[in-house]
Amino acid sequence: MATHLWVLTFALLVAAFVPLLLHRSIADALASGASSRSFIDRGVQESVITPPKRNAVGSGPLSPITSYVVEPGDTVPTIAARAGIGASTLMQVNQLASGDSLSVGDVLSLPPVDGIVVSPSPGESVVELAGAYHVDALAICQVNAITLLSPLPSPVFIPGLAPPRPSRMTPVPPDGSRPGLLHFVWPTQGTISQPFYQYHPGIDIANGYGTPEVAAAAGQVVFAGAGSYGIYVEIDHGDGYHTIYGHMEQTLVSVGQTVSAGQQIGLMGSTGRSTGPHLHFQVMHNGVPQNPLNFLST
Ligand SMILES: [Zn+2]
Repeated sequence: MATHLWVLTFALLVAAFVPLLLHRSIADALASGASSRSFIDRGVQESVITPPKRNAVGSGPLSPITSYVVEPGDTVPTIAARAGIGASTLMQVNQLASGDSLSVGDVLSLPPVDGIVVSPSPGESVVELAGAYHVDALAICQVNAITLLSPLPSPVFIPGLAPPRPSRMTPVPPDGSRPGLLHFVWPTQGTISQPFYQYHPGIDIANGYGTPEVAAAAGQVVFAGAGSYGIYVEIDHGDGYHTIYGHMEQTLVSVGQTVSAGQQIGLMGSTGRSTGPHLHFQVMHNGVPQNPLNFLST
């Protein structure tokens, strides 16, 4: 605490003796970042992903938030792992809705440690915000590249706080049925490059362009074309079950067609928001995503 008082005192002295400089820095902050909704818009430094700095919050200087440009093959878990932060922090800071929503060239904000972004109250100071969240004010300054007297940007990153807990993962089907009783065949061959988790409602199976993709079970094609999963096929299996096959290079079926389990329905590709050839395989029960691994033999 004594350290904070010294820093505050020093900052106040600076403010008293160099008013022009201070006014200028506040004006700059107001002009360039205070109203920005994104860290990227504030011109945070771009960087390659560096090994995580393991400083506990408050025990050493934290690096400011950097930006990262998504490269081929990147996924939320791999980027988060290399940056040394949790996938949920990466998702929350960048307001990503789905783990599949990365495209090559997307620019992400990378905080140096786990934490959350919040919108400060109008006129709220760094010290007030730090007090409200029981976090070191200096740590907030370091990560957000601001000073103790700066107006707070919005959003502002608060280091060291866990993101909100996942609200739901694999809900029990509303009718109480046991999904494990339904059996699907593997929809393609490859390696699972991304599992089913909070922000990723399916599994990704990666392989080369043109790898055959097959229907996981018998059913009727209800969608085949370009849409929210790139070029994709959706099959209705009855009893409320649908499967989705995303990011195809090409579909080989058409809407209304009846397919059997194992019948080829398309070719693997990387259409839509995707960073490399893979099948995004999604199982829905009454519109709720299910973990596909519960339906596939291991
Ligand atoms: Zn996916």
